[in-house]
Amino acid sequence: MDRETVSRQINTGFEKANKSYSYNDDHDKSVPIEMWFQESDEGLILFVVFYSQACRWSQCTGCNLPSKACQGHVDYKAIIDQINYVFSDPEVVRRRDSICKVIISNNGSIFDEATFSSTALMYFLAQLNISLTNLQILTIETRPEYVDFAELEFMARALAESEANTQLEIAIGFEALDDEIRNDIFKKGLSRSGFEELVGQAAPYGYRIKCYFMQKPVPGLSDDAAVDDIKNAIDYLSQISEKFKVKINMHLNPTFVARGTTLEEAFLKNEYTPPRLVDVARAARHGRDKPISIFIGLSDEGLTVEGGSFIRDGDEEIIADLEQFNRSQNYDILDWLAQKT
Ligand code: SF4
Repeated sequence: MDRETVSRQINTGFEKANKSYSYNDDHDKSVPIEMWFQESDEGLILFVVFYSQACRWSQCTGCNLPSKACQGHVDYKAIIDQINYVFSDPEVVRRRDSICKVIISNNGSIFDEATFSSTALMYFLAQLNISLTNLQILTIETRPEYVDFAELEFMARALAESEANTQLEIAIGFEALDDEIRNDIFKKGLSRSGFEELVGQAAPYGYRIKCYFMQKPVPGLSDDAAVDDIKNAIDYLSQISEKFKVKINMHLNPTFVARGTTLEEAFLKNEYTPPRLVDVARAARHGRDKPISIFIGLSDEGLTVEGGSFIRDGDEEIIADLEQFNRSQNYDILDWLAQKT
């Protein structure tokens, strides 16, 4: 696809969603946007967000992730420099034998070759196999329409050559289960049938699926209705996991008020408040004895407006408890938190 068309698509999404953020065009192209470590029940996770051209969809109303990306194209040589940066990072080198999972993102779709180079992706796989000898899972964030199963099969073959026989996980943003909230209000552009088709295609290869959900992603939704949507999502993912015999992880993000979005406008007019963390615990505890795992995202990635975070003064203890849940999947922690008012 030519670069002009890609830029036009990004602008169209931005305008359709009435966004007002600017892009991160001054960022050093040889350095990822950010990278950090997370602890989960699967072990140590390295999360890397590469710097590339912005998400081509760009329409989701509450999302300003593209504001950390570049408006223009970032070529494969620059992304290869970013990969070299990751694998020479002293913390990555020091912890390389402990890293069990790597999640890669570009705040858009890694499988969209118009914004993220295929050459760079192949180089990344090679570096992964060489450097991380205990890697169990590689997770790749993408919109489903960019998933090409021939490409995935090739990647899975390459990963299987690694010492740890690394498995692939496809991570997609689902955001809300309710179809009207997800597609009419949030403008996700994702149908359940499209998602189920993806899971059905992934199943024979044993690929895992990770689904990002947002608790209370739009204005006009009460705290209780937001909890119910997540509970329904847990039930839905559990059914899909059992039907297709695919391992599914729900990554539950409490919504923050992202700068330069219509959610910010609603927040400034007192028409929206982010969810409370006790309500997030209340929603997630519905996952007890279900066949899916749940990870609660606790970072606003520095993208929130002032006062628009789901983290409020005095939340330190509850955050520590939720992190403990992430490491253990111990639902007694959520039961205890859910009793708080
Ligand atoms: S949520 Fe994902 S697909 Fe939607 S605009 Fe943001 S980065 Fe793009």
